[in-house]
Amino acid sequence: MKVLVVNAGSSSIKYQVFNMKDESVLAKGLVDRVGIPGTTLEHKPTGKDEVIIKKDLPDHTAGMKLVLEVLANSEYGVISDMAEIGAVGHRVVHGGESFADSVVIDDAVKKVIKDCFEIAPLHNPPNLMGIDACQELMPNVPHVAVFDTAFHQTMKAENYLYALPYDVYEKYKVRRYGFHGTSHFYVSHRAAEMLGKPYEECKIITLHLGNGGSMAAIKDGQVVDTSMGFTPLEGLVMGTRSGDIDPAIVWFLMDKLGMDTAEANNYFNKKSGMLGLSGVSNDLRDVLEAAGSGNERAKTALRVYYNQVKGYIGNYMAKLNGCDCLVFTAGVGENGYDVREAICADMDYLGVKMDNEKNKVRGKEVDVATADSKVRIFIIPTNEELVIARDTLRLSK
Ligand code: ADP
Repeated sequence: MKVLVVNAGSSSIKYQVFNMKDESVLAKGLVDRVGIPGTTLEHKPTGKDEVIIKKDLPDHTAGMKLVLEVLANSEYGVISDMAEIGAVGHRVVHGGESFADSVVIDDAVKKVIKDCFEIAPLHNPPNLMGIDACQELMPNVPHVAVFDTAFHQTMKAENYLYALPYDVYEKYKVRRYGFHGTSHFYVSHRAAEMLGKPYEECKIITLHLGNGGSMAAIKDGQVVDTSMGFTPLEGLVMGTRSGDIDPAIVWFLMDKLGMDTAEANNYFNKKSGMLGLSGVSNDLRDVLEAAGSGNERAKTALRVYYNQVKGYIGNYMAKLNGCDCLVFTAGVGENGYDVREAICADMDYLGVKMDNEKNKVRGKEVDVATADSKVRIFIIPTNEELVIARDTLRLSK
């Protein structure tokens, strides 16, 4: 079966087509600036030249229509007819407490996605727009929702509850959900394979370090804890997100800087993190470069970043009673060897010893721990699209 994977954002649609016979990618692409003048489609068919189409498109349905035309194009397409697509998998950010697994989309599922608009206002509405557009154009195939939150639903109350009056959990579902679940799921399963142990017997700490970043502690096949919380703002220092702070800072700065709630939301999500702290950029490569050229603020910002990750490793080691491996993934985790080295430095007490020479690699699946390190240190490039395609196939049979 051929499976189309769709990740719809507010003004973009990312897609990949898989041939599930051998899980090969037939094509991938991105429609950018949907609903904004200057819409561009970049289509990369495997083994053929990239195609760029510029054509203003009013909405996600028009965007998906163009994607399907391109996929079936006689010159640069990868299928002969739209009917070749047997199922569509959709990335959906928030599934609330309703989904611990992916699910075939029906009206009830769409209602839950809608009910989560309030707690995921930036992500769930465009995700649903993508689903509606695809269902309109491909009404006769199964559509499957794969949630970023689903993998973390195995967390127990002691890890997902905040110490707030209990009725805000009951009434408003204020709790830790966790995100990047599809990535933590993929890399932790690969890690178990690399460890040569059944997944259900492993203790794994995954570090998804990208522009957004989160960690997860996984034991016996269940998520014990994860660093993102009610929203993706909590946890690690990120490109533009503050991560953990004293919540009193929020109302203190709202008062001092005269911000309303929308402005505060923007301040802590878009202006903080490495961007705010370093004053250089949200892109870690730029911050590393500035630090390398002697920029003291960039150097301090990096130390704050490393410190936070180290703190979470310690936290999770304590909760898991040690671990078999650390797993680095996503843009920074896969490529930033200096970042990995700084994070893993001076942790031999916890059984973490990195071979700094082996570690000088980018984007490869490899163990970079020393032979005598009690904890393995894996770099595993993530593949969220493949997880979505596999779940879509599994649920559409
Ligand atoms: P997103 O969260 O947007 O999906 P990615 O997983 O693509 O992010 O990661 C993007 C981040 O990866 C950027 O901050 C970029 O600086 C970082 N990155 C990419 N290559 C390197 C590298 N060689 N060293 C350090 N950071 C890197």
